[in-house]
Amino acid sequence: MKELKRVILKLSGEALSGEAKSGYDDALIEDIARQVKKIVEKGIDVGVVIGGGNYWRGRSNDNIDRTKADQIGMLATIMNCIYVSEIFRSCGIKTNILTPFECGSMTKLFSKDRANKYFEKGMVVFFAGGTGHPYFSTDTGIVLRAIELDADAILLAKAIDGVYDSDPKINPAAKKYDTLPIQEVVDKKLGVIDMTASVMCMENKMPLMIFGLNEKDSILNAMTGKFNGTVVTVD
Ligand code: UDP
Repeated sequence: MKELKRVILKLSGEALSGEAKSGYDDALIEDIARQVKKIVEKGIDVGVVIGGGNYWRGRSNDNIDRTKADQIGMLATIMNCIYVSEIFRSCGIKTNILTPFECGSMTKLFSKDRANKYFEKGMVVFFAGGTGHPYFSTDTGIVLRAIELDADAILLAKAIDGVYDSDPKINPAAKKYDTLPIQEVVDKKLGVIDMTASVMCMENKMPLMIFGLNEKDSILNAMTGKFNGTVVTVD
């Protein structure tokens, strides 16, 4: 894999609640901020994408029109980014939030040039609001932004510490992959990220690093070779 000079970090909405399972676990978010700050101090550009599942999932609300349900989901991702961005700021990180649609003064409209300008200023850039379109997810959103912005890898911080050949909760002998070709993720429909996002990674050669958010310093370790998760390779 190329030297990591620019990465985009994905946090799921649920992860923000930690053990509490609802609301925000500030200590956990501060710990993420501490690690991200050290990465930025090394001169590496960090973008952040956050899901919205702690508030709302479009496809789980089939009592209303899907497009409208997905709009609520996209707004949920913005609320998460505003919160996490504020915690990052309180930890001394410069941040900005970009969305693919206008949100008044709350965020700025995404453009590649604007994102690059913020990265040049050493800011952590939050990409909120997903792709801006219904029927997509923040998985697709992060791959899209990573490709557009020539990121070197996507970092997926998960509740589980990598990709296994079977569910380790059910099968104690389940084996974790150190590396896994993206072709296999697509062919076997492994749910590492959603299918649309997997195909985009394959076609655009965007590697993924998957690791456990709960493991101490796992984000930092992903950047410093002490990585203990799974790398989805694209060569
Ligand atoms: N969403 C969307 N378009 C996007 C990104 C997200 O419509 O480009 C909506 C969708 O309703 C989704 C919700 O926002 O369920 C939260 O996003 P997340 O990726 O966390 O969804 P999940 O895959 O967990 O449902």
